[in-house]
Amino acid sequence: AAKEAGRGTWRRFKTSMQTQVESRFELEGELRKGLESQQLRLYLQPKTNRDGLVYGTESLVRWEHPEKGLIPPDRFIPLAEDTGMIIPLGEWVLKETLLLMKEHPHLTFAVNISPRQFRNCNFVEQVQQLLNETGADPKRLTLEVTEGLLITDFNQSSKRMLELQKLGISFSIDDFGTGYSSLSYLKKLPINELKIDRSFVDGLPDDSSDALLVETMMAVAKHLELLVVAEGVETQEQQAYLYSVGCNLHQGYFYGKPEPAEQLLARLKKT
Ligand code: C2E
Ligand code: MG
Ligand code: MG
Ligand code: MG
Repeated sequence: AAKEAGRGTWRRFKTSMQTQVESRFELEGELRKGLESQQLRLYLQPKTNRDGLVYGTESLVRWEHPEKGLIPPDRFIPLAEDTGMIIPLGEWVLKETLLLMKEHPHLTFAVNISPRQFRNCNFVEQVQQLLNETGADPKRLTLEVTEGLLITDFNQSSKRMLELQKLGISFSIDDFGTGYSSLSYLKKLPINELKIDRSFVDGLPDDSSDALLVETMMAVAKHLELLVVAEGVETQEQQAYLYSVGCNLHQGYFYGKPEPAEQLLARLKKT
């Protein structure tokens, strides 16, 4: 009986492994098709200032799968990154965003750029070309990158950032505080903004170590003259605490979840 149970376990194990491999393979093919047949959706989340006004948005992609429904980016961005599909996918997000900019001259627009996309040797050219094609104003465009990207291959990254900065583009460090990196890179790179990771905002105002970390990040940012955006603001208590330490730019469900781009922009135009 033990032997049979053992065999059964092995079979189950093998089956689940195969399923994982197959579903990943399947998902890859489907994502390729999805990209071609316009299944990607551009969602935007508002960024709000101290006056409670929406001053900008962040582009967050979703995949509207014909059978599986709306798939969040965490389930396909890593796959796209592994397979290289992030290059056309990222180009799509950037272009869709740039196309919206002309119609909304009072808003800033932020786009997430993953490491492989940023490191692609054609990236600067691609951005330049999309700016030309769309006539979008680069001064209202921010690229969100992560700390990890900047530390690995520092020289190459900083060179590329400077080229993009010359075009008028700004840079933001996404998920700031989660990268275990030294802070010295902040003064060596053309960075305009830090985004405090949601994990530090979660425990505010009661968690004293989160509070201390947020205050420390504010001090660093003040010293280096960087803007700070708090991610994942969900409650009025978090809002009040952040205001009290001088963090006035917020993003989070308290203000608005990501929603289809046209929907958010139409509402903003009316108010
Ligand atoms: P991110 O850039 O750090 O985006 C913030 C994530 O936190 C978003 O998840 C957003 O919906 C979520 N969020 C915002 N406010 C709150 C809140 O108050 N509470 C909670 N619980 N969550 C909140 P989303 O849209 O699922 O995106 C996840 C990640 O996928 C993004 O993290 C980003 O790293 C990546 N991503 C999304 N779109 C793109 C894209 O177009 N290109 C690339 N390369 N990555 C993308
Ligand atoms: Mg982001
Ligand atoms: Mg983030
Ligand atoms: Mg994130």
